Amino acid sequence: MSKNYSIAIDGPAGAGKSTIAKALAKELGYQYVDTGAIYRTVAYFLDLLGVSPKDVDGVERYIDELTIDIVYDEDGKQHMLMNGMDVSDEIRTQDISQKASLVSAHAVVRDMLLDMQRDVAKKYNVIMDGRDIGTVVLPKATVKIFLTASAEVRAQRRTDELIAKGQKADFNQTLKDIQQRDYQDTHRPIAPLKQAKDAVLLDTSNLDIPQVVAEMKRIIGEKISL
Ligand code: C5P
Repeated sequence: MSKNYSIAIDGPAGAGKSTIAKALAKELGYQYVDTGAIYRTVAYFLDLLGVSPKDVDGVERYIDELTIDIVYDEDGKQHMLMNGMDVSDEIRTQDISQKASLVSAHAVVRDMLLDMQRDVAKKYNVIMDGRDIGTVVLPKATVKIFLTASAEVRAQRRTDELIAKGQKADFNQTLKDIQQRDYQDTHRPIAPLKQAKDAVLLDTSNLDIPQVVAEMKRIIGEKISL
């Protein structure tokens, strides 16, 4: 069997994980897996049913009615199918970001998604990003990187991103949302956001995208011949 490599990238919202991971995956010929999109799909599904993301009984009652598929188009772009419907664009709102953060705290949700994430990593060489990839999903990942940046820098990036997509975004509100999500994601009892002991910390506050990509390649190159 040929060697199966996995690169785990964890970190808070807006640290640049998906932008960097996508660029690297393309360059290395790896499959990029955005695990946040899976939690967003759960949040969107429950939202359509009018179930509050905090209502654990409601979440447990309806979760079995949801089938999630991750599919990739010819360009390698990840699409999320919610009971067969492509919801990749619908899940990218501030409202769903917050709801995904709340819904992801429930054990029933995390358990349901764990095997799905591990199965993709078994099939492909992956660059997987999320909050608990290096700590829980792929504890034996070949390379683990914890990507972060100051809350202000991350909020500015997220604001620019939303505006570029034609959505309304206000810096102060985005900063508040990010700080709230940071708090929720780091304080939940199950699989909280934290740096794995064997992860390399990379602060991107003062780096541009090409600089982060170069630094990541250097870190990865220490474990995998590129
Ligand atoms: O990465 P993204 O911002 O799309 O993630 C949305 C939310 O999903 C996060 O705030 C986090 O609460 C949750 N998440 C998680 N574990 C992951 C990926 C995302 O709990 N591996």
